[in-house]
Parts: sequence; structure tokens; C-alpha cells
Amino acid sequence: MSLSTALPPLQVQAMIRDLKEGRFAPRQPLCDDLARDPLMVELNELADSLDRRFRELHRLQEIAAEVSKGLFIEDTLTLIYDTFAEFIPYDRIGCALLCDDGIRVRSFWSKSRIKQLPGLKEGYRAKLTGSSLAQILETGEPRIINDLEVYLAEHPRSLSTRLVLREGVRSSLTCPLQVDGKGIGFLFFSSARKHTYQKLHQEVFVYLARLVSSIIEKAQLYRQVHELNAQLEAALAELKERSCRDALTGALNRGAIMEHFEQQMQLAKRRGEPLCLIMLDLDHFKQINDTHGHPAGDHVLQQLVQALTAELRESDRLGRYGGEEFILLLGESDLAEGARVAERLRARVEAMDIVLEGQGVPVTISLGVSGVLPMGTTYPACAELLAQADRALYQAKRTGRNRVCLHEE
Ligand code: GH3
Ligand code: MG
Ligand code: MG
Repeated sequence: MSLSTALPPLQVQAMIRDLKEGRFAPRQPLCDDLARDPLMVELNELADSLDRRFRELHRLQEIAAEVSKGLFIEDTLTLIYDTFAEFIPYDRIGCALLCDDGIRVRSFWSKSRIKQLPGLKEGYRAKLTGSSLAQILETGEPRIINDLEVYLAEHPRSLSTRLVLREGVRSSLTCPLQVDGKGIGFLFFSSARKHTYQKLHQEVFVYLARLVSSIIEKAQLYRQVHELNAQLEAALAELKERSCRDALTGALNRGAIMEHFEQQMQLAKRRGEPLCLIMLDLDHFKQINDTHGHPAGDHVLQQLVQALTAELRESDRLGRYGGEEFILLLGESDLAEGARVAERLRARVEAMDIVLEGQGVPVTISLGVSGVLPMGTTYPACAELLAQADRALYQAKRTGRNRVCLHEE
């Protein structure tokens, strides 16, 4: 009796129903007669392959979900290596990426069940141009080599083939990795047996290669975002720095030096440390402007700041308080130390060689120094310290200029 003319046995019908409804496993226990029925055997094989396919898709989905969580490429490759062996035969998986020069590939990652020679490990570089890999990258099509010994006989100059053969690899499937349609590297699946790979495997591998590509793309995007962020931060820092500076002289501007002053005063108070303030002003500067012009005056201001800065410690801060008047903050310094610094600055400015319109011009400054005493004293407000330095400066002017006066209680 032919099967096509009679209704299939009940168990076969049940099985077909199961398959239609997506229940591939577990299989119904069969009586001996039915187990030998060709239709039943076919159905069983179909159920088996559907079950495999289903689990394979499920695993791919799991990997895709892991990838979307933002795994590192190495982790993903390891995940693929560790979880796909039950579906597709491989003894080795390798990943190589195109170098920045675009003409070489570099082995980036590999994991192997068979002996792994150092030659092909991470860092191994091979020229891409002219090689068969270049073709894979160009066409975007995976390549199966069923017998690498035969392949080497036909391509005796392929060093990479020689190396994988030495490791024990006999057949391989190579997938291109692509980002935005551009080849960026390869995923190699290798087997110790010949004729391991078929078109059937290719489909899954291509999918895996796509996942790996997408992580690489993400990593690259991440790097770009990271770089952009760094540039932005640098630009912001530069902007902030510039907003604190006086455009002409490069000294801190009034806002910035006053802010620093407030901070230093708080710090000195908290730590019970001394703090010293110097206020200085160019002598007869109006005369320089009147005689040589405003740009010459600007030049003198720049030279002055350069000379002062050269005398200062890292922790000292110089700010342009206004016009040709500057203030200088010396942390952890008492009035005596401030007086020493002020005198050094005065001498340094006096010694400057300023030439305007071919003529040497003497430039001097007057300085007023005030300070808070260490420990035990009540700390004055910044405005108070400023007023004291200003009075000392006024006294230096009144008593002949080019000199240092101290504010003393
Ligand atoms: P004194 O010794 O008493 O300080 O005399 P002085 O001439 O230096 O003081 P005065 O306050 O009379 O003049 C200051 C001059 O500084 C007037 C102003 O034009 C000039 N000045 C202020 N800012 C700048 C600047 O940015 N560039 C130039 N070239 N001159 C400036
Ligand atoms: Mg002046
Ligand atoms: Mg002045």
C-alpha cells in the first residue's frame, strides 16, 4: 500500500501537526513499525534539522542581544567561540583587521582547540594587496577552502596558508567584515578536517560576521565620540583659560585675580597661613604713551608682564587690576617675604632694556605690600588688604617712585 493513497497513521499526523505548530522536540516515542516507516523517518530528520535550526537562531539572537548590550569585541568573539561549536564545526576562530595603511591585515584575536603556533597569533601581519583575501574584501563574499593542502599547492606563495597548515588546519571558511559596505577585516573559521564547510554553514557565519562588524563599528563610533569629547573639553578648558586672561598682557584679568584672591584668603584662614599682596604701578607711564604713542605703551605693558612673570614662583599669581596697575598674590608668604619679592621685581623692571623708536627708555615701577600675619590673627576682608597695599603704593609714589613700601600696622 502506498502512503500517498492512504491517510498517514495517527502518530504521523500528530507529528506533522507538532511541526506545523513549531514543536520540534521532544519527539514522540514510536513503535517499531512506525520507526521504520520512510515517511516517519523523513519527518524525524526534518524535525531534527528544524530543531537545530531553531536553536541556532535562538543562539544568534542571544549573541545579538549581548552585542547590543555593548560587549567588547574580544568578549563577543569568545562568546561565539564558546557557544557555536554544537552547530558548526570549527577548531579555530580568528579575527584579523585591516591596518590603517589599508594594505595590510593584522591578526587581532584568535582562539583554538588545536595547537597554536606563535606565528599566527595576535599581531601577525600580512600584506593584503594581491592576496586572495583582497578579493574576499572586494566582493564581500565568503570563501570556503575545502582542502588547504591542495590550495597551497596551487598558491605556493601564500605564507598564511603555510602557517595555518602547520597548525593543523585543513579546511576553512573566511567571512569579510564590513562597516558601511566597506571591508574592514575578516573572520576565519578553521577546521582540522578537510571538507568541513558547506553553503549551509556560510549563512550563519555571514550573520556572525555581521554581528562582529557591528561591534567594531560601535567601538569606532565610541572612539570618535570619545575623541570629540576630548577635543570639546580641551576647547572648553582653552576658552575658560582665555576668559581668565587679559588679552594684551596674558596676565590674569581683574575678575580672575580677584576670584583667586578670595580663594587664597579662605585657604589661608583655614590653614592659619600667611598671605601677601603686592600692588604695583608703572611710573610716569602716561609720559611714555604721550612721547612714543599708545602702541609703544602697550609694548611696555607686555614687556613688564614678561619680566614680572619670569621672577615668580609657580604658585604666585599676577593679575592686571586696571590700566597699568597690577596685583600679585604670594601664597604662604609673610610681609617680610613679600618685601623681598617686591624688591626683586622692582630691580628686575628697572634693569629691563626697553627701546622705543631707537631710543632706550627707562621703565620703573612702584610697589605697595600688605599681608596677613600667620596664626592667631583675625583675617581681614580682601578689600581691606587691597586698601592697605594701595595706601603703601601711594606712599611709594609720593616718596619718589621706583621703590617698595610696606603697609605696617
Ligand atoms: P604715576 O607714576 O603716578 O603712576 O604716573 P602715570 O603716568 O603712570 O599715571 P597716570 O594714572 O597719570 O597714567 C596712567 C596711564 O596709563 C594713562 C593711560 O592712558 C595709560 N594706560 C592705561 N591702560 C593702558 C593700556 O592698555 N595701554 C596703554 N598704552 N596705556 C594705558
Ligand atoms: Mg602709573
Ligand atoms: Mg595707575
